[in-house]
Amino acid sequence: MDNTFDVVVIGGGQSGLAMGYYLRRTGLSYVILDNQKQPGGAWPHTWRSLRLFSPAQWSALPGMLLTGGGSEYPARNAVVEYLANYESKYNLQVRRPVSVTDVSKEGEVFKIETAQGTYFAKTVVNATGSFSNPFIPKIEGQDLFKGRVLHSAQYRSPVEFANERVAVVGEGNSGAQILAEVSLTTETLWITQKEPRFLPDHIDGRYLFDAATQMYEAQKAGVSYKAPSLGDIVMVDSVKDAKIRNVLTSRRPFERFTENSIVWSDGQEEKIDVVIFCTGFNPALKHLSSFHIGADDKRPATEGTRSKTIEGLWFVGYGNWTGFASATLIGVGRSAKTTVEEIVQYISGIGKDKS
Ligand code: FAD
Repeated sequence: MDNTFDVVVIGGGQSGLAMGYYLRRTGLSYVILDNQKQPGGAWPHTWRSLRLFSPAQWSALPGMLLTGGGSEYPARNAVVEYLANYESKYNLQVRRPVSVTDVSKEGEVFKIETAQGTYFAKTVVNATGSFSNPFIPKIEGQDLFKGRVLHSAQYRSPVEFANERVAVVGEGNSGAQILAEVSLTTETLWITQKEPRFLPDHIDGRYLFDAATQMYEAQKAGVSYKAPSLGDIVMVDSVKDAKIRNVLTSRRPFERFTENSIVWSDGQEEKIDVVIFCTGFNPALKHLSSFHIGADDKRPATEGTRSKTIEGLWFVGYGNWTGFASATLIGVGRSAKTTVEEIVQYISGIGKDKS
């Protein structure tokens, strides 16, 4: 198998596929390396009841509508199916499972080491998302705690926690939704850094995505636009129900763990069996440590999606720092398109005298 390409894309989730969509039209040779056995990136690993908060019509990659089985807010399985169909419809060149372990550069050629052999490329696009790099804050005594500690990335469904006392940590949408679901089956506590902020009930995903689009258009036109705070908790049905059941009350963070409990700042102990941290993610960049990128979970320096420190390297799909809303299904297409334009220009200049 020839493993030399113009472009190697690392990661075959929605961001890698959006790259493939635009790359396939350029005539450049490319491959997408993904360490999963099945298509869908992070989506198959999210919790079972998860539904998109973005409406189906606001959740499509370039070129192909997401119908979501007719549901306005498609279930995660509908997204997995959509991404699998997307890959085959456009005959995208994905190899899996191929796990990239290291990337280095010799002259103008990238060397991409994988568990399944070495690849070479003129350019590399990192589209590895962040789901495989969950963030859990360091808390004193955690190694003493005999209960279970997990991150929302490992949470699947509430059935495994029946009859346990569960603390959910985090004031974002994941924290609120997991709390809402777990509190239906067992006793819960909600622990947040600050008082959680809820959007009014009528502000649904459709409203938010409209607002985000208007904000983007306003930014481009250089005018001001006052949007609702997009980081606040969306009142999806399960969270509305939890509000009615009065389980959305939260306490500020505990200070340390003991063997069987957590200890509040006033010294009071609270017996607990399970702690679910819904405390976010960092970009999955460990395989770029040869470039001193990723090891400390710091964001790499970029201009748009292009690395400022390593020529020929791009980052796609990580959030606003790699393009407006680029960590969403609808937003990543725009970012991928401009990245491919930059790559075409970069490759056409390789070997030419730059003086
Ligand atoms: P991923 O889906 O994580 O894909 C990256 C791929 O790269 C994975 O297959 C990964 O295994 C692979 N990979 C990683 N490291 C390597 C390596 N070293 N070698 C090879 N392969 C590697 N967005 C919306 O638009 N609407 C929503 O409603 C919405 N809801 C969300 C709800 C939750 C709970 C979460 C967590 C996210 C949600 N998002 C939503 C955001 C976003 O769409 C997802 O996070 C999306 O999965 C990001 O896609 P990605 O391709 O960038 O990353």
